[in-house]
Amino acid sequence: MKKSILITGGAGFIGSHVVKLFVEKYPDYQIFNLDALTYAGNLENLKEIEGASNYHFLKADIQDAETLDEIFSNYGITDVIHLAAESHVDRSISDPLAFVKTNVFGTVNLLNSAKKAWGKELDKHLFYHVSTDEVYGSLEDGGFFLESTSYDPQSPYSASKASSDHFVRAYANTYKMRTVISNCSNNYGPNHFPEKLIPLCIHNIKNNKALPVYGKGENIRDWLFVKDHARAIDTVFHSGKAGDTYNIGGFNEWKNIDIVRLLCQKMDEKLGREKGTSEKLITFVTDRAGHDMRYAIDASKIKDELGWEPSLQFEEGIELTIDWYLNNQEWLDHVTSGAYQDYYSDLYGSR
Ligand code: NAD
Repeated sequence: MKKSILITGGAGFIGSHVVKLFVEKYPDYQIFNLDALTYAGNLENLKEIEGASNYHFLKADIQDAETLDEIFSNYGITDVIHLAAESHVDRSISDPLAFVKTNVFGTVNLLNSAKKAWGKELDKHLFYHVSTDEVYGSLEDGGFFLESTSYDPQSPYSASKASSDHFVRAYANTYKMRTVISNCSNNYGPNHFPEKLIPLCIHNIKNNKALPVYGKGENIRDWLFVKDHARAIDTVFHSGKAGDTYNIGGFNEWKNIDIVRLLCQKMDEKLGREKGTSEKLITFVTDRAGHDMRYAIDASKIKDELGWEPSLQFEEGIELTIDWYLNNQEWLDHVTSGAYQDYYSDLYGSR
């Protein structure tokens, strides 16, 4: 069977890297990028593949079950890689319901449409859900998240992602749908919306604006270059065992404050500023409510069973990322001004 893959959230940060990888690497696959183009979706992320004959963009909302049913039947969708989500923890604290609507309700809509469309041949199709390590909660006393670690989500964002993971597993168990889930640590790299730590710091350092750091900046996260995550998704999609979960991570833990200092140091060098100039912009702000202290992922299973491991060292990835932001000021101007919505209307009309 020829593959027609529905990738949701393909105009977002990680989704756009996944869509580009699949369109370029698999010319025999038809790739359908479904995205509602919220504030986080940006078609400029996909410029390189515009016009590719195996690439199709569908503006749709996963909260709209009827449209999803039509898409599955009109385009003969054979598999799903589901990334569409509300993804920013701070926004989930101020508006939890938006996260339930997209991350939980939207995911169940997609599962239902897939189940309906694939009928009695569920064993011939795959529903792949891309999730986060935040579902495991906070590691206060050492150790690592394993695939067997119990869920203990602490923020409205992670609670919504945990819930969607549970629904995916429930559909595998109840209806025998072929599913796979991966839980990844923090991503960084090109096309990251500048509300997140690394692009926010690069943007603010360049513009001499304050660098807000929560609490004392002691919180620890594992970081992975976004293209390595896209490679991992390719690996899990093609070789992962149905019904399984794979943790994806960079074996690369950093305290937030150390990342901010590293960015200050590198940006001083790149911008020809005196050493220590950018660090003066660091401003400690009241900690995020319920801020998880440490996430650390053990990604041995995907390495041992599927042969995936990160290809880039962090220093190299950070250099690439800073250079990308410095060379793509137009992209930054557009996402900070909302002008990419005009870009969409020019390309596709105001559907
Ligand atoms: P993002 O916010 O950059 O992109 C999300 C995309 O989903 C956007 O293009 C947006 O327009 C689209 N979208 C949102 N609501 C939608 C809806 N109702 N219908 C259709 N499309 C909708 O997010 P990201 O950082 O690229 O994350 C992608 C996925 O990976 C998410 O599921 C997230 O939970 C997961 N994840 C992210 C990270 C990370 O560090 N960013 C780490 C692990 C897992």
